[in-house]
Amino acid sequence: MDESELPRQWYNIQADMINKPLPLLNPATKEPLTAEDLAHIFAAECAKQELDQEHAWIDIPEEVLERYKYYRSTPLVRAYALEKALGTPAHIYFKNESVNPLGSHKINSALPQCYYCKQEGTTNVTTETGAGQWGAALSYAAKAFGLECAVYQVKISMQQKPYRSSIMRTFGATVEGSPSMSTRAGKDIITRDPLHPGSLGTAISEAVELATTTPNCKYTLGSVMSHVSLHQTVIGLEAEKQMEKAGEYPDTIIACFGGGSNFGGLAFPFMRHTLKEGKKIDFIAAEPSSCPKLTHGKFEYDFGDEAGYTPLLPMYTLGHEFKPANIHAGGLRYHGAGTIVSQLLKDGYMRAVDIPQTESFAAGLLFAQTESIIPAPESCHAIAATIREAKKCIETGEEKVILFNLSGHGLIDMTAYDSYLNGDLTDPEFKG
Ligand SMILES: *Cc1c(COP(=O)(O)O)cnc(C)c1O
Repeated sequence: MDESELPRQWYNIQADMINKPLPLLNPATKEPLTAEDLAHIFAAECAKQELDQEHAWIDIPEEVLERYKYYRSTPLVRAYALEKALGTPAHIYFKNESVNPLGSHKINSALPQCYYCKQEGTTNVTTETGAGQWGAALSYAAKAFGLECAVYQVKISMQQKPYRSSIMRTFGATVEGSPSMSTRAGKDIITRDPLHPGSLGTAISEAVELATTTPNCKYTLGSVMSHVSLHQTVIGLEAEKQMEKAGEYPDTIIACFGGGSNFGGLAFPFMRHTLKEGKKIDFIAAEPSSCPKLTHGKFEYDFGDEAGYTPLLPMYTLGHEFKPANIHAGGLRYHGAGTIVSQLLKDGYMRAVDIPQTESFAAGLLFAQTESIIPAPESCHAIAATIREAKKCIETGEEKVILFNLSGHGLIDMTAYDSYLNGDLTDPEFKG
């Protein structure tokens, strides 16, 4: 770890974008939302950051920096063994965001969100979680800043990944399988369907209900929102300094894509040179073939959640009622995309590829066997896209510099690896 690599400010790409993201709309009135509206459910500072299209640099609070120092800077690694196994002339680098107490990049935003809540006099935070990465990061951050934390975890994924709820409870959070009997929304669902397996939609409804009916309780999100990718820019800002030390500059930047926070976190600081100086970099978002909003979705206003509680967001979407197949990369099973990335894709600053599930695990296995790190099923998509690009370099002989984000490790996802190794994994078809 090198503290001198740790940035003191986050980078807000909205300030430098030529076409700004369109406004979020109130679904009832179709009027643009104000920071005040958003502050009913989110921390006021996060609401302000969400809509800030003016300030390119936003100070990281000292207390958050102190917590970042527990695990940052994170390593930038040259994947020599992977390059050798592929026989590629490409130089492959990865930023290792799995090296922290929770094992994924989500902690980078959980810490500031909890810090701002604490500053603003909030005592409780709540959220929903699917695979459990966000819930785990939030539980840790809530404890760090002395907040109570309640997580609604999709019931079926709680059964599939039991250790994630153990982690959340170890950090002091209350974890409810959703649908639960602790909210009206949950009770209604259980009354209608006692065996409901739960979904992100049911979990969001319960968390939002808790936040709006409990005094001093705020709702938090681990992806999609612009303030979340703002916090994640620590990844790219560090990577920029580290690449400079390595004496190289990336031609290609790759990250997996669920709602866009780890992609934006790595890509946006580099993209500022594209926006301001016309620097040419190939930015690639890697999404699952079974949930391909960037490659097969439409750019339109849509709800951020299944139930239709959120504001209307201008984004690439498969429709909020789209039910993604039950792939193991739980963090990528989301119908929409962040509004910043959606605008950048529309304007041609980046591109997207879709990766079948079995290709992603084959890539994850090769990475584990060469680089000794078992990647999260989500991160395997970035690795697969990297391998595709590195193989192209074998044909062309180009020594391209490829940088990808390792968004997390897969040590709590070994049932997924077991199904792959047993030959039980399929490639669910996308039905648009
Ligand atoms: C949540 C998650 C993702 C997807 O979320 P983004 O907001 O698109 O980054 C990717 N990788 C891991 C390990 C995750 O936990």
